[in-house]
Amino acid sequence: MSLVAWPTILKSKTNGGLGFWDLHLVNNAFGMKVCWELFTKPTSLWVLVLASKYKFDNEAGLNPIQPNSSSPLWRLVCKNWDDMMTNVAWIVENGKHVRFWEHIWVPGLDLPLIELAVSQVPDSMRFHVVASFMIALGEWEWQSFEYLLPSNAIQLIAAILSPDESMDNDRPFWCPSSSGCFTLKTTYLSLCRQRDVVSRAPWHQIWKWVGPQRIKVFMWLCLSNGVLTTAERCRRHLSTSNTCEVCFESIENTMHIIHNCRFARDVLLG
Ligand SMILES: [Zn+2]
Repeated sequence: MSLVAWPTILKSKTNGGLGFWDLHLVNNAFGMKVCWELFTKPTSLWVLVLASKYKFDNEAGLNPIQPNSSSPLWRLVCKNWDDMMTNVAWIVENGKHVRFWEHIWVPGLDLPLIELAVSQVPDSMRFHVVASFMIALGEWEWQSFEYLLPSNAIQLIAAILSPDESMDNDRPFWCPSSSGCFTLKTTYLSLCRQRDVVSRAPWHQIWKWVGPQRIKVFMWLCLSNGVLTTAERCRRHLSTSNTCEVCFESIENTMHIIHNCRFARDVLLG
């Protein structure tokens, strides 16, 4: 009988779990890899074959459209596309592909500008690309967007190099990875971070301790409240008494068996 819930066991060791692979997240990461390849290599043969068979919604920002029946691969793409896109930032070069409001492109901001806007962005400019907000090289058309953004966003935009027509196309950057290249490991770890609530318990001290693995696992069980004490057995209707069967003096919970029971204390203190 496992007294520690499976979702807890899946957490990382430093966050209260045992670091088992979460296969749902692994599948999610593989799905995002397919989406990333599809997004960044539009001239690959397999992408051209898919693009000829299925359709994208260009208005909504190149979203794949899921028909009533499709292949498992396309279903995987449709399921993971939005998750993939939330992890894509852009390096602006000529500014002709990055959408000013809807993409993440300002260094230092983890959100698209539309989510920081202080008032409603007019529909007429919602899909505009970054280059359309330039008057001339190095000069932003401030009056067309300044009134919609908070001052910190304005300062960050003013601090970056503006788009230049003579440069290459804008490049996508994979946020979970510091190099900007897609890797399954960084994607999986990023998904784990989104899933887990950060725990302040001293888990790392358990795993850092130099000693037998079974003692470390026992300490982990104690801290996870996963030891089958009589109090726990009683709570699960497996026993009628919750009293310690060694000293018969108190309720036998985790703290009792490792510290409060006088027999345990005799062992601890030698
Ligand atoms: Zn006792």
